[in-house]
Amino acid sequence: MLADNAKTLHIRNLVKRYGSVAAVDDVSFTVERGRFVTLLGPSGSGKTTVLMSIAGFVEPSAGRILIGERDITHLPPEKRNFGMVFQGYALFPHLTVSENVAFPLRVRGIPATDTARRVKRALDMVQLGALGERLPRQLSGGQQQRVALARALVFEPELLLLDEPLSALDKKLRAELQWELKALHQRVGLTFIYVTHDQDEALSMSDEIAILRDGRIVQSGGPGDLYDRPRSRFVADFLGKSNFIAGVVEHADGAGFVYACGGHRFGQVGGGETVGAAALIAIRPEKIRVSQESPGDRTNRVPGRIVTWSFFGADIQFRIRVEGVGELVATHPAWKSAIPLQADSRVWLSWDGDDSIRVAED
Ligand code: ADP
Ligand code: MG
Repeated sequence: MLADNAKTLHIRNLVKRYGSVAAVDDVSFTVERGRFVTLLGPSGSGKTTVLMSIAGFVEPSAGRILIGERDITHLPPEKRNFGMVFQGYALFPHLTVSENVAFPLRVRGIPATDTARRVKRALDMVQLGALGERLPRQLSGGQQQRVALARALVFEPELLLLDEPLSALDKKLRAELQWELKALHQRVGLTFIYVTHDQDEALSMSDEIAILRDGRIVQSGGPGDLYDRPRSRFVADFLGKSNFIAGVVEHADGAGFVYACGGHRFGQVGGGETVGAAALIAIRPEKIRVSQESPGDRTNRVPGRIVTWSFFGADIQFRIRVEGVGELVATHPAWKSAIPLQADSRVWLSWDGDDSIRVAED
């Protein structure tokens, strides 16, 4: 237990200013050993700057970085023993796969016999054991990125830092490598700090996600927790898709409240509301049921008219106009759909009071 605490990474009140702009603005988080933690945020939100500060390539303007009790804020990068993988593979084109992977060991003066054994192990880890003699240009993009990964793992780093490593790959390959990265993480038990702007990537791989916006962490937690309980419009919108209904609280008790919007009244689970206050409600598209008949078993029911739809194979996404509320998006399983795909046809939308959530306006 003590040994594990000694490996915990602490980022405390990290600030990085470029002139008058704070690229990172008071960021704090903790990463326990062996976790897969993702920094997720739009472009320019400060993700790379946080990662580069951890790696030691960016000098923080303020704040501290610690491993256990050890302050590493000003330690040079080569003394940190952290592996890094970037978006570009940055492999040496004239070196073979094995030579590329051996490079960090050569820099560290590891003897040749040891090097061969460790290179083989690292290549096996990323399932490239048979391709050691190839040159990078003889590999696919996914394979090149796996070489980069092996090169980052070969010196047995304490921590692996990954900055959008899959974003140059096409969609299918990216999904495959997401599985592989996750499996690799489970196998090696190494701490991963992963940076991405891709919410699917963050949701599918991480133990924990910290969502960054304008240099600040706006919310962090497990993927399921963040998806089900976003606290703000920004998080509800950035992580997954959301519909928003802006209402006014009409009645409230300890367990829930009724809010009005465009002549409709909807029920919402959750206490602490004030009558007369504005309430912003977020509803995931898959939590709205679409039906032809008015459903009797839901707290909230409202009629609408189909504006348009998109077919995604497994499901259909409807845009449905609700008088007084606006357009709502609802995802409907395609394989059991009886909804006619016809613009302007009338349908019912329904959801329960705990299918939606009250969020803060940004
Ligand atoms: P992300 O990785 O989330 O896209 P970055 O950490 O790269 O974001 O950048 C955060 C902000 O800091 C951006 O506004 C960016 O323009 C600015 N920034 C990053 N690096 C520098 C730099 N070396 N000089 C000036 N501004 C920078
Ligand atoms: Mg970046």
